[in-house]
Amino acid sequence: MENSNRIKNLPPYLFAEIDRMINEAKADGMDVINFGIGDPDQPTPENIVNKMKEAIQDPTTHSYPSYEGLAEFRTAVSRRYKKRFDVDLDPETEVVSLIGSKEGIAHLPLCYINPGDSALVPDPGYPVYKTSVLLADGKPIMMPLIEENNFLPDLDNIEEEDAEKAKIMYLNYPNNPTGAMASFEFFEKVIEFAKKYNIIIAHDAAYTDIYLDEEVPHSILEVEGAKDVAIEFNSLSKPYNMTGWRIGWACGKKDVIESLGRLKTNIDSGIFEAIQYAGIEALYNSEDSIEEVTNLYRERRDLLVEGLSELGWEIKPNKASFYLWIDVPEDIDSSEFSKKLFKKTGVFFTPGVGWGDHGENFLRIALTVEIERIKEALQRIEESDFVYK
Ligand SMILES: *Cc1c(COP(=O)(O)O)cnc(C)c1O
Repeated sequence: MENSNRIKNLPPYLFAEIDRMINEAKADGMDVINFGIGDPDQPTPENIVNKMKEAIQDPTTHSYPSYEGLAEFRTAVSRRYKKRFDVDLDPETEVVSLIGSKEGIAHLPLCYINPGDSALVPDPGYPVYKTSVLLADGKPIMMPLIEENNFLPDLDNIEEEDAEKAKIMYLNYPNNPTGAMASFEFFEKVIEFAKKYNIIIAHDAAYTDIYLDEEVPHSILEVEGAKDVAIEFNSLSKPYNMTGWRIGWACGKKDVIESLGRLKTNIDSGIFEAIQYAGIEALYNSEDSIEEVTNLYRERRDLLVEGLSELGWEIKPNKASFYLWIDVPEDIDSSEFSKKLFKKTGVFFTPGVGWGDHGENFLRIALTVEIERIKEALQRIEESDFVYK
């Protein structure tokens, strides 16, 4: 059967070849140390799991949930935003729950993009932004994120014509894959830009609670007037090791939240209520576990940065998220670099080109590997004849 143009036009899955290489090596008996996995390796905190056990025993949670999410869950989100960012959100009209933030990120273009309309998308970036625009028959306009600009898009460099045509701008800070953070001043500029050109800002804030140094990530909704143009996606996946649970939300600009909700009534039927009760527990009672995971990522980051620097690698520590984004020496292709390292050591660092053309020359190292295995990886690199430069 012939696929629709929509499916045919999806970009190829760039990691397919990598997955094959890793699986083949494993089948050949290689002990692979994989730094490619953007999924926390630790379990969900016990209080959250216990709340789920309790909630699942209550038969009232077994029916269809409401599409917009339990009022108590949306209230918990609103209180969390007040406490963490000093942002006021009306839980009735400015918060919608999502089956993981990816669900909302992927559905948003269907609410605003007509065939041929465009959206501004960061490169490198989480692949869902681009593909969801394509699935809505829209045109992604890539915004390069380069090191000289601290991996922030250069708003002054966006063509006037592109800015005028764009309906949505996706942003993501702290950033996957670069680990970069955005300043409050940058967010102010973004909001001003969005108002000038009438663009919806869709800020993906999945890593706002994963910061490893003093600098604390902002919500874009902290900017005065942000709710006139912006929504923010957020998620329990990363701070609470809950990627498998599928629970997140979007919040901010009312009519956008309403449209996303309206679309969802036609596609899904909301989040299992027992999971929402577990989510409420996470939002109210799990500050300690955030501290635990960030301590863990910090320890791993420091070990890797120190170890690789000692081996002559040029590597800058990430201040937030759980990704190191490292520049490979100029005359080497990052895919080749990654493959060569893997063949010699069984240690896998992901070539950055998988997140977009401007990811070329970089590698992403996910800090989702246990300390003992990090030590093992460093030792193998040291003992191998792999040379960085
Ligand atoms: C992990 C991640 C998410 C979270 O996705 P969920 O669907 O909420 O699990 C969103 N955006 C980025 C950039 C991520 O890396």
